[in-house]
Amino acid sequence: MSFLKRTLRNAVSRGLSDAIGKAVQQAVEPKATEYVNKAAGHFEQAAGNAQQQTRRSTAGLEGAFANLERTMQSYATQLGQNMKVCPGCGQPSPADKKFCPGCGTKLPEQTLAQSAVCPSCGKQNSLGMKFCDNCGSKLPAAVQEEEMAAQKNVAVMAQWDTLLPQYPRWCCGGSQLCIEEYGEDGVVFSASFSGNAQAARRAVEQYRQILLQNGFRQAGQYPSIEQLFKRIDGVVYNVDTEHCFEGDPDCACIGFYRREPHGGYDYVKPEPRRNADVDLNDIRKLFKF
Ligand SMILES: [Zn+2]
Ligand SMILES: [Zn+2]
Repeated sequence: MSFLKRTLRNAVSRGLSDAIGKAVQQAVEPKATEYVNKAAGHFEQAAGNAQQQTRRSTAGLEGAFANLERTMQSYATQLGQNMKVCPGCGQPSPADKKFCPGCGTKLPEQTLAQSAVCPSCGKQNSLGMKFCDNCGSKLPAAVQEEEMAAQKNVAVMAQWDTLLPQYPRWCCGGSQLCIEEYGEDGVVFSASFSGNAQAARRAVEQYRQILLQNGFRQAGQYPSIEQLFKRIDGVVYNVDTEHCFEGDPDCACIGFYRREPHGGYDYVKPEPRRNADVDLNDIRKLFKF
């Protein structure tokens, strides 16, 4: 494949993925290749003619791209008439299926094409759009996506009870919640604040306050005061709120660990567990007073 074709191919692939979603893109892949090759041919022809002005070459390429996108959109919509996409794993399925053959998740009632039909004005929008191109109404596809995200968030918070019972629950907002095992004795919880880094920072600060109110303490100046710990039944549970935004400023990721934080020169070791079972009478007997 020539450099030109490869570049075009990557550009179209990215564009298509944004426009129609990954699942549909897989299905239209063979057609996409055919059309990309046509577009590349068109460009080579335009660029090869040295007599032509640059503007005309560019116009030829833009036209070929616009044409390609229109063709791919209508082809994708046609495919979408008989296709459903699994909200669980993203795999495409034939429209008559009720459950995903890949992961068993219940498939939506509507086909991919139906979920892009505007409920207000009836326009068939391009697949992958969230709002109607004609009147701005929210499309069924977007509603479905939001419902699925809400359900997933509820499921993740239920998972909290199993994996993080020692810590107070996260209740500071965010969406697309996620809990992942991290290393041998750690779990990472993340919440997305889609494009709002300030809200993410506020939420983590609020969660720190909740932890402090629930008996968690700061671990001194090193590793950092951002690290909070609590000893329960001889085990130290610690929360790392220092590195929350390393991956993404809008996505708060907090580490929860079942081990003591690594201490430094002024590290404050957690207090030993007090023995609450000591009876004054026992002491009296022992020392005979
Ligand atoms: Zn699935
Ligand atoms: Zn509409």
